[in-house]
This record gives sequence, C-alpha cells and structure tokens, in this order.
Amino acid sequence: METAFVYTDAYLDYDYGPTHPLRIIRLKLTYDLIKACGLLDLPSVQFISTIKAEEKDLATFHSEEYLNILRQASEGFLAGDAYLYGLGPGDNPIFPGLLKWSLLVTGATLQAVDFVAEGKGEIAFNIAGGLHHAMKSHASGFCYINDPVIGIKRLLNRGKKVAYIDIDAHHGDGVQKAFYETNQVLTISLHETGYTLFPGTGFEYEIGEGEGEGYSVNLPFPPYTGDEVYVWAFEEVVPELVQAFKPDIVVAQLGVDTFHDDPLTNIHLSILGYERVLKGIKDLAPRWVALGGGGYNISNVARAWTLAWAVMNGVELRNELPESFLKEAARMGIEERTLRERPKAPLDSQNKDNRAEMERVVRFIKETVFPKVKR
Ligand SMILES: [Zn+2]
Repeated sequence: METAFVYTDAYLDYDYGPTHPLRIIRLKLTYDLIKACGLLDLPSVQFISTIKAEEKDLATFHSEEYLNILRQASEGFLAGDAYLYGLGPGDNPIFPGLLKWSLLVTGATLQAVDFVAEGKGEIAFNIAGGLHHAMKSHASGFCYINDPVIGIKRLLNRGKKVAYIDIDAHHGDGVQKAFYETNQVLTISLHETGYTLFPGTGFEYEIGEGEGEGYSVNLPFPPYTGDEVYVWAFEEVVPELVQAFKPDIVVAQLGVDTFHDDPLTNIHLSILGYERVLKGIKDLAPRWVALGGGGYNISNVARAWTLAWAVMNGVELRNELPESFLKEAARMGIEERTLRERPKAPLDSQNKDNRAEMERVVRFIKETVFPKVKR
C-alpha cells in the first residue's frame, strides 16, 4: 500500500497572533515527531511538498465577493465591512498573507485528493487541512477557506462518490451545508453537542434535504462523553452507513480537540479512544484522504496525528517518544514522554445519562437515516 504525507515548513510563515488558540507551530511539531519516529522513511511512503492552490480552485466553492475581501485583507487593505464576512479581531483575525496561508492549506488538500483519485496510492494525509467551518461567503471558527469542501468538489468532478467523516469536537457545519441537498456525498459528523459548543449546530435531526435527505448524519455528544460511549456510538452508526453508501473515497477530518485536556472543548476522549476510532475509519476506507482539523493542546496534536499516520501505514509504534523529539518538546513546555498518555483525570465514560442520551440519538439515526441510505 502506498501513502503520501503532504507538508511544508512554509506554513510557519503565517501566524494567527500571539493570543490565538490555533498555533501553527503544532504542524511543525507533528511533522518532527512523525519524522523522528521514522514514519517518513518507510518504502511505501511518499513525501509531497505542499504547493499552493490557485485562486480559481477557491472559487469552486467560495464567492468572488468574499475572495476579493480576503485578497484585500491579506494585503493589509482592511475593507471597512470585513466584519460582514466574519473577519476581524477574535476567531478569524486578519493577518499578513492570510490568503496565501489558505492557498497553501487548500493546495495540500488538493494534492492529497489527486494522489488518491489518480490511483498513485491509497491514503494521503494533509495535517494542515480540515478547516471545516468556512462558509461560501464568510470566515468562521478559525477557517477562511473550506479545503474539505474544495477537495470533495474536485472528487465529485472526477465522478467519485465521497463519504466525509468528521471527528473534530466541533460540528463540521461548512461541509454539511455545502452538500446538504445531494446524495453524492454522505457527511457524518461526530462532535460535542451544539447546546454547549460552537458552532451550535449538528443536531441529530439535521439529516439533509431533498435528494440529500438521509445523507447528512450527526452524532452530537453531551459534554464529558468519554471513550466508551464515543466509540460505541461510532461503531453503531458509521461502519454500517459507509458500507451501505459504498463510497469510492473517504475524506476524513481528524480534529484532535476531543481530548479531555483540550482547552476549548468538553469531550473527554483519551488518545486510546482516538486510536480505536482511527482504526475503525481505516477498516472502512480502502481509499482515504485524511485531513487535520482542530486541536489546541499541541502535545496532543503531535502525538495523536503521529499515531494516526502510523495507523494509516499499518505500523505499531512503541510507546516511548524518541529522545530527539523529547528535547524539542521540552523546549515547548511539553511534559508527556509517551505516545499514549494515561489520562490525568478519571474519564467520565461511565456516565449513565450520557450513555442514555447517545442510545436515544443512535436509535433516531437508525430509524430515520439508515432506511434512506440503505435503500
Ligand atoms: Zn474543532
């Protein structure tokens, strides 16, 4: 099996700002750990250096009006109505070169898509991608350009049927919305419920419309859901739906902000639960475009995406982190010395109310969505 890892240090030329939770350095840290583990030296692995997308690629989803605003903002000419497009202090700051940053991220996703779609290999991973909140005409949730949507659209243009699986702690709202009325893309999002977390959507009753009815699937988890309930719900819903849909390619957003010690969210997954879900996706997806996503504890990001890349390549990693990486990690204040860290706090996976709530959600999905996708 051939795999591709898409990356460039040029990501580090961009910065959301000193107080912003999305720290681009997490990408370099992940790359360094993957490299230190020898996972780029496997004979089946191709390293692909990121090439920027073209602006016309962005226009396959985003409006010209919005792209113009991004262009101006990116060059330091702040349009007075930028806030109408979600831009400004806060979640989606205006920083120098933000359009170039978005072109790089999207370019890497398109390279990953082309690698898999052209049959050069089975799996490609763009850790910078997965910016799933961006909408057609506005920025949202740290996302300016929706690279998953643009990647999926390219696959559709090549006549491929796509299943999108999103395990970020936040609902994959931008991707769901883009494909809400089509049955050519099955979107499945697992996330913390919109009652307690941004963007406030992704309830189980959002199932798609028209031709797309039944092809949007949401598993909203209550706060403090742990490994047991999370993995149970994944296994009850995702494999059966994906197998019934029979996609040519799976696109998966692998956000790692679901961990118990992520500073922005309240899902209590451990890295062991994450690994089980990753293996579940791999079993389902002979052809797989993997994207990054959220993750605001950079130690978790580096370790979980390294583990994900090991799963993609069928490698069992030893638990001790390489010495060379530990030195770099220590400089960044990272204390973990193992790949799979034992949770510091007890996980709330036994919570009976959470279990009962997810049993209700799973029952609803089986009653309303399963018959539509499995017809
Ligand atoms: Zn997220």
